[in-house]
Amino acid sequence: MFDVTIIGAGPGGYVCAIRAAQLGMRVCCIDNSPFLGGTCLNVGCIPSKALLESSHLYQEAKDLRQHGIEVTAVKLDLAKMMARKESVIKKLGTGISHLCKKNKITVKHGFGKIIDPQTVMLAESQEKITTRHIVIATGSIPIALPNYPFDGEHIVSSTEALAFSSVPKQLAVLGGGVVGLEMASVWHRLGSKVHVIEAQPRLLPEMDAELSTAVAKHLQSQGIEVHLQSKLTQITKAKNTLQLDIGHKLQAEKLLVAIGRRPATAGIGLEKLGIAMDTRGAIKVNTKGKTNIDNVFAIGDVCGGMMLAHKAEEEGIAVAENLAGRAGHVNYQAIPAVVYTFPEVASVGMSEEQAKAQGIAVQVGKFPFRANGRAITAGHEDGFVKIISATDSDEMLGCHIFGAQASELIAEMVLAREYRASSEDIARTTHAHPTLSEALKEAALAAHKRAIHF
Ligand code: FAD
Repeated sequence: MFDVTIIGAGPGGYVCAIRAAQLGMRVCCIDNSPFLGGTCLNVGCIPSKALLESSHLYQEAKDLRQHGIEVTAVKLDLAKMMARKESVIKKLGTGISHLCKKNKITVKHGFGKIIDPQTVMLAESQEKITTRHIVIATGSIPIALPNYPFDGEHIVSSTEALAFSSVPKQLAVLGGGVVGLEMASVWHRLGSKVHVIEAQPRLLPEMDAELSTAVAKHLQSQGIEVHLQSKLTQITKAKNTLQLDIGHKLQAEKLLVAIGRRPATAGIGLEKLGIAMDTRGAIKVNTKGKTNIDNVFAIGDVCGGMMLAHKAEEEGIAVAENLAGRAGHVNYQAIPAVVYTFPEVASVGMSEEQAKAQGIAVQVGKFPFRANGRAITAGHEDGFVKIISATDSDEMLGCHIFGAQASELIAEMVLAREYRASSEDIARTTHAHPTLSEALKEAALAAHKRAIHF
């Protein structure tokens, strides 16, 4: 009998498995894909970042003149770019298999179905696995349009958009969220005419409004068409093109539907077991990750909330630690969110709108990268850092960055949030010169109206 059986080997599942094994449990981890790593490694975070990096270099190579570097012929080899992406996935996948072996985790491939709170069955082989605890980590799947299902060719999800074999002449992206904007950036850089269609009045509706405005402006200046408050009402297929009706007609070779993801719960036996789910189909869990059924836990995308790999990982670790009698905990106030466009967008904690909606009086400090020495030397002057702190306590409640390397810069602000630092704490911390991180210190100073360089 296993101590814990985890269904799903994405970042939630395999990390939970490793932590449980470290804590001395006998662990089984099941995945229905031949490859470990889940959505994140195989069709999510990693392939998208590989393509974002490659396409960014392709674009940069064409624009090196400002540095005094003349490059004459820059040519795209898409097949090679895709092969590199695959090799990155393979390398990391091999790493996960190695970690599972090292931690003596029993890995089984097959579709896991819960028979009762102590038994999981592999659907294909009918093998029954007995276990003291079950962790559901089955992730999420892309949401399709109600009347226009994915066809894998013209109406596609991010999975296909990560593997186009040629650059689409026109790509329409439905949904101005993270996945939509990252894929829009990749294919625009590689030569597609890209249209982003968003029903809301702004892109990235969950983030601070100033970030949304800055991103929309920059994407448009790069040549991506952004259609806000636009609803796609009809799609007409004609030969190799789609006619899209968004209030006016738009032609596209491909339509990427990036309107969100929903928890992957079908066929796992949840209804029979009586597992409670919310109206969005996400499994309900308490603060310890436990479902309404004893011994059954759930982590990651399948529980809804922020659908992010690092959130899934932290939940996996917390559940493993709780099972071992420790005090596993996830601080949902300090989970960073990143959009890997160029410039990048990164955020942690409350937006200015959220603070105001909760009646919290805040002071806002802003600092532009055009006043930062390192940003100027790199030619990355676009963007800003915005820090929000409580007027009464000065506690830093949120930080929002739009700029080069925002994904790396946000780590300091996550730590500050975790330690409940004040903006004064950040302002009095020495930052190396010249670095982009000085903009964080300056934004904290600006919250007290004493920025030095602006
Ligand atoms: P998943 O990674 O989805 O893993 C679930 C696993 O369970 C899968 O392998 C699935 O095959 C398996 N499974 C499902 N049902 C069963 C079953 N019944 N039996 C056995 N196995 C089963 N997040 C970030 O933090 N950063 C990013 O940059 C980022 N980029 C993204 C880009 C794209 C294009 C997409 C689509 C997503 C991105 N995400 C990103 C989101 C991230 O991928 C998810 O939040 C994360 O993978 C969730 O982890 P998980 O462990 O909950 O589930």
